[in-house]
Amino acid sequence: MKLGIFGGGQLARMIALEGYKLGLEINIYDKNENACAKDLAKNFFNYDFLDEEKVDEFFALNDIVTYEFENIDPDFLKKHEAKIPQGVMALELLQDRFVEKNFINSLDGIKCVSFCLANENIVETPFILKTRRFGYDGKGQLLVTDKNTDIEKFKNENYIIEKYLENITEYSIVIARTRSGEMYNYEPLKNVHKKGILKTSTFEKYLDEDIKSKMIEKAKLIAEKLNYIGVLCVEFFVSNGEVYVNEVAPRVHNSGHITIEGANISQFMLHVHAIVDLPIPKISSYSKYYMVNVLGHDMKKMELMQKDKKFARCHFHNYGKNSYDTNRKVGHITFKDSDDLIFNILNNIKGAI
Ligand code: ADP
Ligand code: MG
Repeated sequence: MKLGIFGGGQLARMIALEGYKLGLEINIYDKNENACAKDLAKNFFNYDFLDEEKVDEFFALNDIVTYEFENIDPDFLKKHEAKIPQGVMALELLQDRFVEKNFINSLDGIKCVSFCLANENIVETPFILKTRRFGYDGKGQLLVTDKNTDIEKFKNENYIIEKYLENITEYSIVIARTRSGEMYNYEPLKNVHKKGILKTSTFEKYLDEDIKSKMIEKAKLIAEKLNYIGVLCVEFFVSNGEVYVNEVAPRVHNSGHITIEGANISQFMLHVHAIVDLPIPKISSYSKYYMVNVLGHDMKKMELMQKDKKFARCHFHNYGKNSYDTNRKVGHITFKDSDDLIFNILNNIKGAI
């Protein structure tokens, strides 16, 4: 069977690695000629995502196509929807924050933090200005704490304003939905961000049962309403016992990288099983597991740590990117939680402190 992947970044790379274990042929489409998953593709399509002829060719070549990012024109993919298990609806509803948050709020029992279009400006400080499209890793966001801040140039329909919640705890639920509508989720992950970029994820050990079941229920409802097939991730904010949905990623997710070693099936293998319709085992994860992201400016440190016996228990992941730019995700480390190891790793990986 031939699996095509739209987007050739680290998520595609990790999907491809699992796909090979199942004997799939992997083909990748990315406009970036240096995409880090390129070398894993039998056929690498290096064209613009709006090159209709090449996209048609890519769909003709593959039995199934998955996407690893959400900024693809949905209208353009509609005619190929039969080959896209994740569907086109997820792209239509989730690639624009304003549309996404309205969709989430329309679901029974689910809410987002209060927001409005930036030109309405009815949210009081502190608030965050966010671009509606193309934001990731905190890019395109501005925290406004002083009501006299001049935000005139952002007061248009391309931005939203969202109430800033102090002292939040962040969680994510990584969940798979199969063709027959069954759902499989991992334990909630507790995520810590620094400057909008995910820093660490760990399976939450002490989570209140009520909050946990609320998050799982909401993730299931979202996957079902999107008629979604594959792995999806819902990011949550918890503040004063209230559960808010932050955003939904219709794909495998950075927090889920912990599952490569920290669970009986990785989120990438789970995704492939769901989209090619293979049976899925009951999911179990190891408690006391940890994942730390490595950003470009820390890559040299990670390479040194890899050679250090002290860190031999760690699993080091290098995405093979062609540049190690500051704040760019270039790898991650997973390990069984132990206080001295966490302390040592966080002390070494500056981006993680
Ligand atoms: P991205 O698409 O870049 O991940 P998010 O909206 O998830 O954008 O924001 C990135 C991070 O910024 C969040 O994980 C959280 O740490 C912080 N953040 C975003 N919105 C809020 C908010 N309303 N209140 C508090 N923190 C926020
Ligand atoms: Mg986010």
